[in-house]
Amino acid sequence: MEALHKKIREEGIVLSEQVLKVDAFLNHQIDPALMQQIGDEFATLFANSGITKIVTIEASGIAPAVMTGLKLGIPVIFARKHQSLTLTENLFSATVYSFTKQTESTIAISTRHLTSSDRVLIIDDFLANGKASQALISIIKQAGASVAGLGIVIEKSFQGGRAELDAQGYRVESLARVKSLNGGVVTFVE
Ligand code: 5GP
Repeated sequence: MEALHKKIREEGIVLSEQVLKVDAFLNHQIDPALMQQIGDEFATLFANSGITKIVTIEASGIAPAVMTGLKLGIPVIFARKHQSLTLTENLFSATVYSFTKQTESTIAISTRHLTSSDRVLIIDDFLANGKASQALISIIKQAGASVAGLGIVIEKSFQGGRAELDAQGYRVESLARVKSLNGGVVTFVE
């Protein structure tokens, strides 16, 4: 997606050979027009996949997920990272190791929002080692729902997440695929 590549080139900051900072437009300050284009792109890619729900993780996945849900006309659920749900609520949950924070946390979705008849599109801002995606897949499976695919805004193809999802047979659509961050430069997969 050319507009996204341009934004990454112009406003992305390479923090290390592993980490790209995009808080000027994606996960702190948000560019709504770009986010709308991202949502439209995911909606087009997954138009005929019978999707009934979109699932993401708070907080950075919410903006692209909502724009996609708006275009497809379906609800968006974000897995919560904090124990803000009432204790009486039944939850599907999974543990996820955070690549950026280097801590393990539990994420959860209320059993009221996902059922075995749902077909789910997972949306997230980044795909690195795939821990967040695998945790969401686990939650969707606990509900007995099916995974239609994953829509990723920025995939770092040099980390292992994409290969693992491919090997498991999931459809992964990434709008920007970063081949390397070496030398402080973002290089995209052709
Ligand atoms: P994974 O679970 O695939 O290892 O990492 C994905 C999650 O870690 C994303 O939800 C994202 O929030 C965060 N993340 C991974 N790599 C980066 C990165 O290079 N930059 C930023 N800003 N977040 C990242």
